Amino acid sequence: MPHPPSAPPRIGFVSLGCPKALVDSEQILTRLRSEGYDTAPSYQDADLVIINTCGFIDAAVEESLEAIGEALADNGRVIVTGCLGAKADLVRERHPEVLAVTGPHDEAAVVDAVHAHLPKPHDPFLDLVPPQGIKLTPRHYAYLKISEGCNHSCRFCIIPSLRGGLVSRPLGDVMAEAERLVRAGVKEILIVSQDTSAFGADQRYRMAFVGGRPVKMSFPGLVSELGKLGVWVRLHYVYPYKGVEDVLPLLDIEGVLPYLDVPFQHADPRILAAMRRPAGRAHPSACVKAWRRARPDLVLRSTFIVGFPGETDAEFETLLRFVEDAGIDRLGAFAYSPVEGAAANALPNPVPEDVKQERLERLMAHQAILSAQRLRERIGRTYRVLIDARTDDGLVGRSYAEAPEIDGVVRVAGDARPGDFVDCEIVSADAHDLSGRLVPALIRGPQVIA
Ligand code: SF4
Repeated sequence: MPHPPSAPPRIGFVSLGCPKALVDSEQILTRLRSEGYDTAPSYQDADLVIINTCGFIDAAVEESLEAIGEALADNGRVIVTGCLGAKADLVRERHPEVLAVTGPHDEAAVVDAVHAHLPKPHDPFLDLVPPQGIKLTPRHYAYLKISEGCNHSCRFCIIPSLRGGLVSRPLGDVMAEAERLVRAGVKEILIVSQDTSAFGADQRYRMAFVGGRPVKMSFPGLVSELGKLGVWVRLHYVYPYKGVEDVLPLLDIEGVLPYLDVPFQHADPRILAAMRRPAGRAHPSACVKAWRRARPDLVLRSTFIVGFPGETDAEFETLLRFVEDAGIDRLGAFAYSPVEGAAANALPNPVPEDVKQERLERLMAHQAILSAQRLRERIGRTYRVLIDARTDDGLVGRSYAEAPEIDGVVRVAGDARPGDFVDCEIVSADAHDLSGRLVPALIRGPQVIA
């Protein structure tokens, strides 16, 4: 629908891919809003569309190319950015009419392209930008990116070639952003990066300053500062380095939560070495046993790849046993698929497609049984739950043991608003979700988890 000539120019935005890309999208939108651009709810209402693409696996590349085609058909003026932007030739070959293609994490290049094709308004509405920036998540939780890039070279992954080596953000900047989010009403901060436990390694763990105090730029230094915010903080993309043990005592049910998202990807030592995984020599079983000894309340989420080239039946069985022995609480899994440009493409003995799919189904079925058992153990306990939504069927929320969007939920009978914390006694469970009822106040005791 055409809008009055005096109205600010309007940008349509499509954000694809992982939470790290979502943070990039938020930064681009924040910058554009601060310059006086407005956002449009549909292709038809926009003067120009930006697509932040994902290029992690071939299916994501295809989804991104289709989204670009759709925006071109419905709007016609499209700027492409994000991981797929690093393969500009591929984008231009399929969609030669795009206005510009810029690479990942390059806010300046996207904004320059917008200026070139949709000039800046003369009177920017600076006061319309909230201090915490533009967020694409619900008001009560937000992703916070602590670093960019990665120093590893996992054979199935092309992220280091797309995003470069590890660059940690100054700790003072990370904390200033976290404090802005808390002041804006955020109740849960989700820490994302390519490699969270390597925070500060590129800075040789130098001293940084937070509010005038010297603090070491390290994973424990970061967690200790985040623990002072007074809101939930959830750690994603934690690799099983030695430093993780130093962080366990800092985890707190009301601060940095005893929940770790650790992308193990496999458990068999030969496959981990073939994948060239970071911390590949630290056997996952030994790590998890030590962590669980230190923190019996620890909830572990992980992702796994089945059917990596050369994976034998016995190696797959090792993975199944690990998932059970380690008590992985939440699990995501993928069948290996070759990514253009990845070193793993040259490995011999690819696993046939039907075998990969069969292993994927077996792993997910195995996990569903284990997950149902673990969730049943939570019946009768009381948890603090952060409400995400109010639906016709009641409230939907999460305890410390569930991350938004990727884990299950806690359904609660009763009334509260999104962003409220409530105390909830669990009364039933299925393979992935829990149901509970509101209790008046949290009773603390050995059998009760807050
Ligand atoms: S750690 Fe491995 S999988 Fe993760 S971004 Fe780095 S190279 Fe890719």
